[in-house]
Amino acid sequence: MENKTITKAKKYMMNTYASFPLVFVKGEKCYLFDDAGKKYLDFVAGIAVNSLGYGHEEFIKKVTEQLGKFNHLSNLYYNEPAVELAESLAVHSGLDKVFFCNSGAEATEAALKLSRVYSKKNKGSDCYKIISMKNSFHGRTFGAISATGQLKYQKDLAPMLSEVVFAEYNDIEDLKSKITPDTAAVIMEPIQGEGGINPADPEYLKQVREVCDENNIVLIFDEVQSGIGRTGAFFAFQKYGVIPDIVTCAKGLGGGIPIGAIIAKEKIAQAFTPGSHASTFGGNAISTTAANVVVDELMEKGLLTNVQIQGEYLKNRLELLKEKHPYIVDIRGAGLMMGIQIDGDTSKVVRKAMENGLLLVGAGNNVIRFVPPLTITKEDIDLFTEIMDISLEELKC
Ligand SMILES: *Cc1c(COP(=O)(O)O)cnc(C)c1O
Repeated sequence: MENKTITKAKKYMMNTYASFPLVFVKGEKCYLFDDAGKKYLDFVAGIAVNSLGYGHEEFIKKVTEQLGKFNHLSNLYYNEPAVELAESLAVHSGLDKVFFCNSGAEATEAALKLSRVYSKKNKGSDCYKIISMKNSFHGRTFGAISATGQLKYQKDLAPMLSEVVFAEYNDIEDLKSKITPDTAAVIMEPIQGEGGINPADPEYLKQVREVCDENNIVLIFDEVQSGIGRTGAFFAFQKYGVIPDIVTCAKGLGGGIPIGAIIAKEKIAQAFTPGSHASTFGGNAISTTAANVVVDELMEKGLLTNVQIQGEYLKNRLELLKEKHPYIVDIRGAGLMMGIQIDGDTSKVVRKAMENGLLLVGAGNNVIRFVPPLTITKEDIDLFTEIMDISLEELKC
């Protein structure tokens, strides 16, 4: 008989997700337990969200403490956790000013709006066009989905915002050919996530920066997935040494409490004035408190170093798996944002691994993504390797 929760979900929730028939009731570190008591090693982490895993003591303590003080104020007043977080995001990104929202898509919206307001003010009212990348993903709101370079997400919705053009990722000549005097912004992920864990070439990213500088175009990096320690740097752009005008973040920032943010250079940020943009929940005291714990763990308590160490170890284990299983054709990514491209059906591997107690998520058409909690240990990665090995073995691939 079908699980009661699943029956109810099918009755009362819109059919927008092809969820697996699994109901989780508890998490502990990098593991989840379903309602039958089965334990799973979680290499999904809420899709790169649960940076500190489950049951993190400091996280629970600080968030609970804040709940005991006040939950939400609105932006009619100042609240300390939001201001503290703004400071640390500015300091750790090397950029200047922050706007808070609640999700990745909202961060995309804020970045697109800011870049347009800035460009219209500084370059003229016709300057509003956005260049995005093919195979990109920027979220599901109308603006964000219009800037997402994958047709499958846009079908049934057209017409989209019409002023977005798509350039070939990692192809500087194609980008140059799409720039016009009306181009306001270029938006791109330094490492494409949903599109299949595709890192930008370092030389290409430098050239993108140069081209944007030459044409006074706002460069937006979408680091909703790659940001906040995920790749072993606070932001992936810091590994490349290429600085955007605006960076977006969300997913891992709140460690599982919803939050999004954009951080911009002073000159760009100045384009926003009171009334330009707003969000009721933006800077919410609970979510900014949660994010303060995540940033503190990363930058003060050694978690970023853990990402670097475990990221290297994971990469090394994936290389061993690749030697043994020719079915794995490529390994890509950085830190704890890794992916393997496989010659075949990723959903089969995801299902088999799940049977064997390992949670995985796909990306693009033929890539399996590994985005575990940043608190992952060597022992967890050893277990991951063992389950992957067995699962690929059982699938005879
Ligand atoms: C997930 C994601 C988004 C959208 O975030 P939501 O919180 O789902 O709105 C935007 N950009 C990138 C790169 C993402 O990975």
